[in-house]
Amino acid sequence: MAKLKQYVNLPQISLFVERGIASLDRLGPVHFKANFKMDDPMLAQFRTVLVSEVSPYTESEKKRNRWYKLQEPVGMQVSEGTEMVSGTTAQLPPSGGAVYKIEARAGEKTVESTDEIETWRRLFFQVLRMKDASDPKKDVKVPNLKDTLDYYKTLFVELLDVPEGVQTEIPYLENATSDDLIRLVKPKYTVKDREPWVLALVFSNALPGFTAIEIGVDVPGNVELSGRLWGNAELVFELPKGKYAWWGMKPDDDAENGGKGIWLQGNGTLTADGKDFVIPRDSIRLDTSHSFKAGKGFNRLRITLPEDARNQNVLLSKDAKLTLRLWVMDGFAGGFALRDENLLTVARTAWWRDTEKTEPEKLQTLNHELGHKLGMVPKGGRHFGRRYELDGPDKLYGDVDLIYAGPKPTQDVKDYVRSHDNAKGHRGAHCERGAKGKKADGVWEWSGKPECTMFGATSTEDAPSPQKFCTACAKLLIRQNLDPAHPDAVLSFKSLLDSK
Ligand SMILES: [Zn+2]
Ligand SMILES: [Zn+2]
Repeated sequence: MAKLKQYVNLPQISLFVERGIASLDRLGPVHFKANFKMDDPMLAQFRTVLVSEVSPYTESEKKRNRWYKLQEPVGMQVSEGTEMVSGTTAQLPPSGGAVYKIEARAGEKTVESTDEIETWRRLFFQVLRMKDASDPKKDVKVPNLKDTLDYYKTLFVELLDVPEGVQTEIPYLENATSDDLIRLVKPKYTVKDREPWVLALVFSNALPGFTAIEIGVDVPGNVELSGRLWGNAELVFELPKGKYAWWGMKPDDDAENGGKGIWLQGNGTLTADGKDFVIPRDSIRLDTSHSFKAGKGFNRLRITLPEDARNQNVLLSKDAKLTLRLWVMDGFAGGFALRDENLLTVARTAWWRDTEKTEPEKLQTLNHELGHKLGMVPKGGRHFGRRYELDGPDKLYGDVDLIYAGPKPTQDVKDYVRSHDNAKGHRGAHCERGAKGKKADGVWEWSGKPECTMFGATSTEDAPSPQKFCTACAKLLIRQNLDPAHPDAVLSFKSLLDSK
């Protein structure tokens, strides 16, 4: 008996008859054909019988979403001649790894199909990498993806590169944001015909996080003003740990404001003795003689205080508070998946390192981001869980987040998020199996050995995150609905070509 792969997430179109798929019959729902010995009209009925399942849907999942139940063909059909092609189909649930046999009943006789069907899913990706032909150092290599692709097969997902074997080059950018990636990829993206089953997989150099902070509001702005004897015309202020002025990240940004860059947003304010003093932006400069790594990463400000804002006392120092709006670089990402578009990226390096991240680190990032694109970690049955989402696993955290609240959350929703926040320092729904988080001085610290690639960071203080899903999450991935024809499936990202 043969086991035929049935690709339940693909439609019956000839584009998908390729690379191991030999006919349209292997795509989408099950179609029935029967042969009869005699050409007398016969009443026939077909059914699909579940033989085994790797990851069955739970009762609550089936209750929330009808696609998670097998939809059998309804009614009897009458044969004409010895060959019968039934107009009915069986719509299989979207999970992988389920084995079915087919039964046909005509008259008193029931016949079983000689072959069984095993459910699979197939998705595609176009590989793009940054390269500057004039500089051998500016050449981002693609890690060996074989182990990752083989691993996904154990979850009944085939990931195929398109065009097969091709790596598409895009211009090199030392530091890229999501907007940059969209801009660079658009003209080189050639796989629109496979949307929405296809992702752009971009290998980038570095991915700094760009964010606005208000010193004195978002983070403390407490300063001490020295007595006059010690020299009090200049105030030195260091940005909080891990935050660096947005300078030297992108040439265009540095060139703005007559070459002063965009890191400083407007004037500052110094509050001392209950009085506010304006600090003109021209009196605030970045100390570029003091850097974090490789001559980059500037986090020290030198502020010339106006005469009236200085401490008038000769000897004693005085407490004051600084308020200042800045654009900062808030760490580097190992990679990310765009929330709406079909693009995900993995970085070669981080934190101004000259050395590349290791292959396992890059593959961990890839798997994690791909996991997000495939709907991990689902939060069905929880507050922000939707109808199509599978039941949230027990080690899920970060599922109470405004990113799940829609574009314009009401005050009630904001209040709910504030009071039920379980992000533990990370953003969005993740899996904490094996890791332990605790809050120290307002900052979340993680220890232990993460067991899941869907942990919210690339490592804890004890161990790196693995490349694979934990047992619970692997079972979830096996039954994710990757059929975009279902109005509420996971695979609903839009084309990067439609992005601004
Ligand atoms: Zn994540
Ligand atoms: Zn997990």
